[in-house]
Amino acid sequence: MEKFKPSVDRLALLVFEQSQRTGELVTMDLVNHVVNELLAHPAECRCGACQAAAQASAGAIFRTAQAWERSVGVTRRRVLA
Ligand SMILES: [Zn+2]
Repeated sequence: MEKFKPSVDRLALLVFEQSQRTGELVTMDLVNHVVNELLAHPAECRCGACQAAAQASAGAIFRTAQAWERSVGVTRRRVLA
């Protein structure tokens, strides 16, 4: 059974928000970019997101953010139709 990973959801949200802001697609490059920025925080940082980035798998973040991106895309197409 897969363990519940709140850190993945939190990071996927950051990736998703960034892709929405910039109009980029959710890609592994974007995930790695966001994760690397978080990993650059100082060790004493208490924001929580950088600790999550050190634990979460990039692949899991990517799959979660991409699922959200798809559901938003479907909604947009429905609005335009
Ligand atoms: Zn931090």
